[in-house]
Amino acid sequence: MKRVAILGSTGSIGTQALEVIARHPSRFRIAALAGGHNEALLVQQCAQWKPVLVSVADEAAAVRLRAHLGNDFIVLSGAAGLRAVAAESGADIVLAATDGSVSFDAVFAAVDAGIDVAVANKELIVAAGELLFERARASGSRLLPVDSEHSAIFQCLVGEPIERIASIVLTASGGPFWDRTLAAMEGATVAEALNHPTWQMGKKNTIDSASMMNKGLEVIEASRFFGVDADRIDVLVHRTSVAHGFAVFTDGNVKAQLAPPDMRLPIGYALAYPDRLPDRVTPSALAALGAAPGDVRARLDFEPADHERFPCLGLAYRALRCGGTAPAALSAANEIAVEAFLAGSIRFGAIARVVRETLDTLPRAALTLDAVRAADAFARRTAADAVAREVQGAGA
Ligand code: MG
Repeated sequence: MKRVAILGSTGSIGTQALEVIARHPSRFRIAALAGGHNEALLVQQCAQWKPVLVSVADEAAAVRLRAHLGNDFIVLSGAAGLRAVAAESGADIVLAATDGSVSFDAVFAAVDAGIDVAVANKELIVAAGELLFERARASGSRLLPVDSEHSAIFQCLVGEPIERIASIVLTASGGPFWDRTLAAMEGATVAEALNHPTWQMGKKNTIDSASMMNKGLEVIEASRFFGVDADRIDVLVHRTSVAHGFAVFTDGNVKAQLAPPDMRLPIGYALAYPDRLPDRVTPSALAALGAAPGDVRARLDFEPADHERFPCLGLAYRALRCGGTAPAALSAANEIAVEAFLAGSIRFGAIARVVRETLDTLPRAALTLDAVRAADAFARRTAADAVAREVQGAGA
């Protein structure tokens, strides 16, 4: 029986993880949940899962939740609440499934306590992955990827000598704008950007997929997870999202992992690792390869990613090569730009411009957790200024 704590239980990954756990009551128990702004759903989850510890965004929400739940639950809030859920709830494994940087300290606390962490929070690995892996090596905590591409490569590397990896390949769906010109993407609407062809994800991730910043962040994430530098990580666009990642070995052999585009699969793999869940039955070989019901063939087509039309991808490679706090700044600036786009303040094409301006002005710094925090704050300020200039420019 594994005791699971979830940071971000009401989000897209959190709710899908609870679906997986619900199918395996003899394997998993929920130790603690941390939710964000969907209080009604968190109340429901508490009633169903009876965690010993619950955390919400702020104290006002905690007061409301205590009134709902009575005295059977410990309800905490804010950073202290996230930390308690991650490191003090008696969990065997923490699922880090919040967006952005809100859970960084909580995940570090879990890792320092030697607790395994299934990481869906890619911003965390991007901004502070090197530090997190160092701390995990010291404490014995295992970091398990939940992102589908990284889960794929992780699965390809089981039993393989790490020094025999020649390169790794992440696949990308290309998102809703793969067939558009740069000029046509400039003024794309929020609704168009949220219309992802293959994956069901949260809003932030879906916009990142449309700009391909998502793939850029994943390139950095892959570098941290597998110790491979920027020159040995490739992106191939694969519209059907069935093949998720490849490992290319020094002897010329290539291993790929294939599965339907369903986040419950990589979530289940991370939670069950090193075992696999026993009961997922696929009705046919084609369905197992992601073919829709009625399809008589599954397609496996690949083409190179286009860095010209998707400048966010190139910006992420640039941040990875630059190293230090550049990836943290990239990720924070992108968060600000995506928020502004979702709020209708800037055009889709401005996301890359805001991120580029931020990277252009970032002071160099050696990598420490304090430097990551400083770079994050710098990037948010600088990106907010860049957003304001975009808004003025559009109004002029
Ligand atoms: Mg992914």
